[in-house]
Amino acid sequence: MRLCRFATSMGRLGESLPVIPLLFALLLLHQSLSQGLEESESTRLVNEEVGGSAPEIHCSRERSRAAWQIIQDYLTPFVERERGYQIPKTCRLHPDNDLYRDQELHKIHVDVFEWKCGYCKKSFNEEKFIDKHFATRHYNLLNTTDTKCLADLCGALHCDFVLSSKKPKSKCNPAAVAKNRHLCESVANNCFPVSQGPAASRLHEHFLRQFCDAHTCTGKDKPFPKGGKKRSGVFYLAISILTLMLLPLFYLLVFLHQREKRSGTQELRRIIKSGKKPKPS
Ligand SMILES: [Zn+2]
Repeated sequence: MRLCRFATSMGRLGESLPVIPLLFALLLLHQSLSQGLEESESTRLVNEEVGGSAPEIHCSRERSRAAWQIIQDYLTPFVERERGYQIPKTCRLHPDNDLYRDQELHKIHVDVFEWKCGYCKKSFNEEKFIDKHFATRHYNLLNTTDTKCLADLCGALHCDFVLSSKKPKSKCNPAAVAKNRHLCESVANNCFPVSQGPAASRLHEHFLRQFCDAHTCTGKDKPFPKGGKKRSGVFYLAISILTLMLLPLFYLLVFLHQREKRSGTQELRRIIKSGKKPKPS
């Protein structure tokens, strides 16, 4: 929407080119403003942390989120294809077994620089600040009585592979690999018991290929060989940013070209005029 409006207004402003420096000035202003906001936000958060008495929770929020994203990208599309298959509640991948699910569902991403708390409607300009806010202000909403930490499955789900920008570790530890493979296979057995019918059997097979096969030291098998969800959101964001960056350049080129043409015609006119002048004899 906003981009569309921007594009049309850019079209209209095609002629009046002084708008380009103005655009950059606005961008700079936005950046400095958001920096200012960040500073005040962090000061407030420090105060909040001092005031709050959040209990220590031994479950990484970041790794839980990574595990959740991996499930969404590389497993959920395949589960959805098997219409009617319900992951049992005893399965550790079930949404109820993610300690942070409720808080994550109350995280509203309004804009690139705006995150809103769904419980108290406070706004934050970075995800890490809303995470801190959840930890200090809404920790009482976490059900910590059960041991249900999704991050504990990170070994089986290849969180490190995703988090460390897909760089493989230099050294392979056979004991750790065996432990992760065992965990991976136990998740497959609990979530997709083959005794539950053909759909469960297919998903069981899929889970082994997608997640468990890569737990080897040979390095031959890569995680998620069957692919996953297309990340169209990120793709469109990248395209939009690229367009915004190239648009001023395009208008500059058009402007320069037209100026060149205009000066060329003036030159021609002058030549024609001087040519028509009767020669004094
Ligand atoms: Zn809140």
